[in-house]
Amino acid sequence: MGPAAPYTRFVPVSLENTPVPAAARISTDAALELWRTASHDDWMALANRVRSRYHAPDTATYMVMRIVNYTNVCVAQCDYCAFYRLPSQDGGYVLSQEQVFAKLDELLALGGDLAAFNGGFNPHLPLSYYCDLFSAIRKRYGNRLEFYALTVAEFLYLADHAKLTLSAAARQLQDAGVRWITGGGSEILTEDFRKRHAKFKYTVAQYFEAQRAILEAGLRTTATMVIGFDETLDERLEHLERTRDFQDKVLADIPGTRGLESFLCWTFKPYFTQLGGIEISTGEYLRHLALSRIYLDNIPRIRTSVLTQNQGALEGLRYGADDFDLPIEDEVTQKAGATVSLDFENILGYARTLGFKPTYRSVTASTP
Ligand code: SF4
Repeated sequence: MGPAAPYTRFVPVSLENTPVPAAARISTDAALELWRTASHDDWMALANRVRSRYHAPDTATYMVMRIVNYTNVCVAQCDYCAFYRLPSQDGGYVLSQEQVFAKLDELLALGGDLAAFNGGFNPHLPLSYYCDLFSAIRKRYGNRLEFYALTVAEFLYLADHAKLTLSAAARQLQDAGVRWITGGGSEILTEDFRKRHAKFKYTVAQYFEAQRAILEAGLRTTATMVIGFDETLDERLEHLERTRDFQDKVLADIPGTRGLESFLCWTFKPYFTQLGGIEISTGEYLRHLALSRIYLDNIPRIRTSVLTQNQGALEGLRYGADDFDLPIEDEVTQKAGATVSLDFENILGYARTLGFKPTYRSVTASTP
């Protein structure tokens, strides 16, 4: 359990008279009660009280980014994934540097400047593939473009496969020009969930060990979560609790770190996956976003997922989120049913009709 301060007991009908004190922290029990009893108006009101600790009410930021799926070959066999091919199967691919450059050039031409690399646990790719690729990108684009190199899950596999400690692997990637490894591959951070659906994708303990090694090496990182599988409410809360506890610890232990710089939650797309199922509603997603904003009071940036919720994601700005992506590609979620729109003006216009003034946030501007 985290170092929870007492939380103002939730009283649904008298929110106006029960302000959340500036330093209040919600407990897991209070979050459970809130989930069972709060209306959408209540969620918005409470989430915005926490949001206002970090952001002015009508502000929102966005990025134009591309997820570059550099390989779809993977041995992890998560049952919620429609993207991967086993090494023995037809249809596997690995992108060449030239193919990656073409995708990055297109991203720049569309006004974006952030690429996020996401592939699989490909046993045929040595560490040198990654280091060569990332140093070539840094050399070709300099600071015109930033990239999230790998997810935590891929980083774990890479270190494992190269028989390196996590800190040695982080150093090698850093020497190749890497500045960010993101928190992807977390899905639901409970050991039981991973045993049910992703038994080869490392444990929760290993996930956080890798996050810590990334931060200790001076690399930057983020937190993520995916909901809408078969996880229980308790599992969602455990994920949030572990994330908040981790952030408390690294901010206290690692000098100069910014810890987890943002939290992005998106929703499971079940189509063509072994797990299958039915998508959760946008309303449930929005309630979870509000819960996340309230619970993760030590992470300033809460992001809403246009990739999986399309225009509905922008409603998330009223439920505590302050930031969103305009993605131009992600094969992983598109294979499982996500759709991408390049009509950015339409999406931004919708944010404006909701009362927000969206401004572009360049990750390159915040690089050292
Ligand atoms: S979700 Fe990622 S790790 Fe799991 S099978 Fe798909 S590509 Fe592999």
